[in-house]
Amino acid sequence: MPFLRGFVCIILAITFAYGQQWNNQSIHTFYQEIISKYGNKELQKIFFSQSQYPYTQWINKPYHHNSIIFSLSTVLHEMQHGMDNIIENTDSTNTYKYFLFENCIIYVPQSRFFQTDLLNNMIPKSLSDSIFRFNIYVGNKNQISDYKKYLRINSGGTVSYSIHHGIFGLIEEFLAYYRGLQVLSNIYPYFKKQLQSLNSSSIEKKQELGIFKYYVLQECNAFYEFQLFIAWYLQYASMNNKEAYQGFYSNIPLRIVFSYIHNSYKQLIDTMLYQLDTIPVYKTDIHFIRELNFDGSDNDICRYIYYSDVVSENYKNNLVEKIILTDGKTAWKFIGEREEYLFFKKVYNKLKKILFKNFKSLTGAKLFSFLTNPEETLMFLKRHSTELILYEIDKFKVNYNDCLTKSKYCNP
Ligand SMILES: [Zn+2]
Repeated sequence: MPFLRGFVCIILAITFAYGQQWNNQSIHTFYQEIISKYGNKELQKIFFSQSQYPYTQWINKPYHHNSIIFSLSTVLHEMQHGMDNIIENTDSTNTYKYFLFENCIIYVPQSRFFQTDLLNNMIPKSLSDSIFRFNIYVGNKNQISDYKKYLRINSGGTVSYSIHHGIFGLIEEFLAYYRGLQVLSNIYPYFKKQLQSLNSSSIEKKQELGIFKYYVLQECNAFYEFQLFIAWYLQYASMNNKEAYQGFYSNIPLRIVFSYIHNSYKQLIDTMLYQLDTIPVYKTDIHFIRELNFDGSDNDICRYIYYSDVVSENYKNNLVEKIILTDGKTAWKFIGEREEYLFFKKVYNKLKKILFKNFKSLTGAKLFSFLTNPEETLMFLKRHSTELILYEIDKFKVNYNDCLTKSKYCNP
């Protein structure tokens, strides 16, 4: 369950004109073509065996070409869960299943474990509330302060698999996020190619690449989040549940699965970030939020109205205008001071009150930088990946190459 969808209802219309009408069938045909041509064998295996189930619900803005492309990360993420057959309990043999790649499904026996939300006893709230995916996948908390209003967190009302199934569930979720990044990396050549074929300006093209990078960074951030969660889980076990801790260490298939995901995911992150190094992150929906001061000044409120879709385009033109100051800087002002616009003054004042309130809760939320600045979030997560964390991770990893090539653990 990646929770990044539709989090702020401020969407700027993208100026791309594809002219194509989308429906479930045409999306399916489109995905089939892309995955066949650009996806590697394991992505093809996942897509073609899972696409018999309804999946278009995972597509954000299923009417917009690029959004359909970016949503492949969510679609493949969810399909990975399908491959691993997530159900509330393991089967009668108490075995977990992880699809790693073609002809390699690893069966992991369940050993003694505990629910992940016990980590709430160890991780200070100030830290856990600052990590976007903590509460949904670890903490089992219904609300993330004011953000419930902005992000559809836990809206399904179900407790995550990664909480109920402890480390076994955490690692499965880690695998699903890896798949999300893997598909973005596989389709990157397609994305660049179709961008080149468009009639848009070079600035617009760069912005589209910046949006692509935004989605890549979200998947990269998930790596660092889950690395923390799994290390914390192991630390907690070593301090409070020695039997479980020893069980994890004797569980070689579990350690193979984890090591494979960790290595492959990290390698993919390095490659992708290197490829996208010179592209500035851009996200049309939220980019302008980074430019605001959130001081409630008329300039700020007008700028917000100007860039967001809080009012319709027509209305907007009667409310605010962009002006160039003598020093060359840009400012935004309410144009209703003119007599003929008096009617709009009432509308503007009302709007201002509402927006000011929204600003306050938005900036008050700890996850503000997650929403607006994935690069800053990445730095934050890296800072918290201390030597102790990395030590815990490295200690748990095994050299799996032999195990996988000799097929001792891989099942078709
Ligand atoms: Zn998931």
